[in-house]
Amino acid sequence: MASGRDEARKLAAEYFRQLGEAGEAEVYMPSGEMRTRLEGRASPVASQSGTSPEPSAATAPSRTDARAAAPGVPGGGSAPAPPKTPDAPEVEIIRVKLAFSSEATTSDMFAKSTGLEACTTLEEVEARTVGCQNCELAGGRTNVVFGAGNPNARLMFVGEAPGRDEDIQGIPFVGRAGQLLNKILEAAEIERDDVYIANIIKCRPPNNRTPLTNEIEACIPYLGRQVALIAPKVICTLGLPATQTLLGIRGSMGSMRGKMYVEGDVKVIPTYHPAAALRDPKYKRPIWDDFQLIKREYDSA
Ligand code: SF4
Repeated sequence: MASGRDEARKLAAEYFRQLGEAGEAEVYMPSGEMRTRLEGRASPVASQSGTSPEPSAATAPSRTDARAAAPGVPGGGSAPAPPKTPDAPEVEIIRVKLAFSSEATTSDMFAKSTGLEACTTLEEVEARTVGCQNCELAGGRTNVVFGAGNPNARLMFVGEAPGRDEDIQGIPFVGRAGQLLNKILEAAEIERDDVYIANIIKCRPPNNRTPLTNEIEACIPYLGRQVALIAPKVICTLGLPATQTLLGIRGSMGSMRGKMYVEGDVKVIPTYHPAAALRDPKYKRPIWDDFQLIKREYDSA
């Protein structure tokens, strides 16, 4: 059976391989201590270690080593050390009134009374979405995709809308973008089962088009109640519609990411939607930078 160290190295090797395939020329290690050049599209790990398909000790991320040595991790060795939180890039902290906050005083869409306040569990809220006809997207759905994950999550991800695979399975982020998100979570050492994942829209828009404003307005009370019940400390918005909706501001992803929006002890960290990285690998770097920040805030939440 593979040891925890072997498993960590396998994950790192897979991550490097993907970066190499994506045409990345360099890898910035999560610790910020090392920068490794990748040689073309060949496996960067193999190119550094000669014949070994795994990263050498010098190139493996130090946090995976820390994890392997942590108490309770199989193969952890005899010198337990706490898992190391990666150094996150410095970010601008912006104090805001978040759009979904109970203190929001604007006439934003979250402030509408929908009767969902009476729902005291996620199951009750989900039951209200089954058969929902509040917008025209009801006509094209196979399933309502309510959300999934830990109902007591400290970290919540909010994306845009279900795609084809999500519509069929009724589960968010199970298609290609979801698989990439899983890999990013693994690399960041965040368990998917520990977080909660939802979208601003619960039914699939035709041809995966961007949700319309009236559709978002019709659906957002469900997300508002989800956030209120889960009460996450860190919310990562994935992509422009989710970021603009939750922050209640307009702007490009490039201008809004790399910052942390804070109200009280709730932090919103925007990043690109994983689908953007599938379309263009240039988004992988900023997504990874943002996930270092997410990991840091999650660990300290
Ligand atoms: S997208 Fe939301 S508001 Fe529209 S039908 Fe589906 S659950 Fe209802």
